[in-house]
Amino acid sequence: MRIALAKESEPGEARVAMVPELVGGLITAGYEFAVQPGAGQGAMITDEAYAAAGATITEDALQGAELIISVQPLPPELVADLPPGTATLSFLPYSHDLEVVRIRRDARVTSFAMDLVPRISRAQSMDALTSQAMVAGYRGAIVAAGMLRQFFPMSMTAAGTIPPAQVVVLGAGVAGLQAIATARRLGAVVKGYDVRPAASEEIASMGAIAIELDLPPLDGAGGYAREMSPERALLQQQRLTPYLAAADAVITTASVPNRRPPILITRTMTERMKPDSVIVDLAADTGGNVEDVRPGTVTRVGQARVWGGANVPSQLPGPASRLYAQNVANVIMLMTADGRFAPDYGDEVVAGMCLTRDGMITHGPAASLID
Ligand code: NAD
Repeated sequence: MRIALAKESEPGEARVAMVPELVGGLITAGYEFAVQPGAGQGAMITDEAYAAAGATITEDALQGAELIISVQPLPPELVADLPPGTATLSFLPYSHDLEVVRIRRDARVTSFAMDLVPRISRAQSMDALTSQAMVAGYRGAIVAAGMLRQFFPMSMTAAGTIPPAQVVVLGAGVAGLQAIATARRLGAVVKGYDVRPAASEEIASMGAIAIELDLPPLDGAGGYAREMSPERALLQQQRLTPYLAAADAVITTASVPNRRPPILITRTMTERMKPDSVIVDLAADTGGNVEDVRPGTVTRVGQARVWGGANVPSQLPGPASRLYAQNVANVIMLMTADGRFAPDYGDEVVAGMCLTRDGMITHGPAASLID
């Protein structure tokens, strides 16, 4: 029974879905593990390291594999050629591209989406959205500190005192809280804002000041935020403006499941920011929290610079791969019984992650978007 580790095909993707440290556990569980040559290259993991862990390195790794693992979805032409019943495990952000679903259904592939792991306590160790958001939040704070041409911490020296940087973090989910914690560790004074009322306590527990805008709460299903009405969005923008005008660095991380992220900062708001201030938009890949942000680009707006994140977790490929691989290994172990790959579709986590199977779309929301 073979698990294959695919070499990522998407440009700019440096992560890899499995790390050598975790291969031994999969072999002990009863699997043969095959790796496409160079799969770990982006994360600086050599073929030799996988081989030393007991993996077979071969161009034909995917042939005869029962399960193929990757970070990004496998390319369509490869999926179309897979034998029916082959299982794949990767991120499958179908709401941006429904072809991802159609191709897997038509190829009769069993596809499991790492982004569909239910947000329940039992599944926390498999939750790759959380692990990768944590990496992105850390990176966001480091980028802001690197771009800002001043100190994050207060410095008291014989030559005088340098005041600390004022940082505002918008969106205090996993990425936002990690950005707050990192900016605090670097010594900045941090304020945080989120539409979910529960977030205020979490922001305070990280040593930051929770911004209260006196707006109605926007809690939705499963602890996620709901989309805002245009009137509420406008009011939120107006009330955030003075906080942004006083900030040296702003990090935005807000998103709403299966929707375009909300615009929290308009061009006018950016134009009112201080000279040499910076905005780091971690939501840029999916549309952005900052008006006109471009992923992978630094744009000057007024006197501020706006950094648009592009596949931010991949910018720290070592730790991002290590955490993703642990999530993947935990999913595989959940789907293993008596040394065999045997997903139990009665299990809430397995069923929740399954996007296509036996020529059917098994995930309700995806099915409702396609005929
Ligand atoms: P996310 O990536 O969907 O969104 C990031 C944050 O943006 C959220 O906190 C959201 O409330 C916020 N946001 C949305 N619209 C906003 C707006 N207009 N202004 C300001 N902020 C806005 O969220 P996430 O990081 O995945 O976490 C969402 C929730 O799920 C949190 O409560 C988190 O604790 C919870 N969670 C639970 C589990 C689990 O139980 N396994 C795992 C991860 C997260």
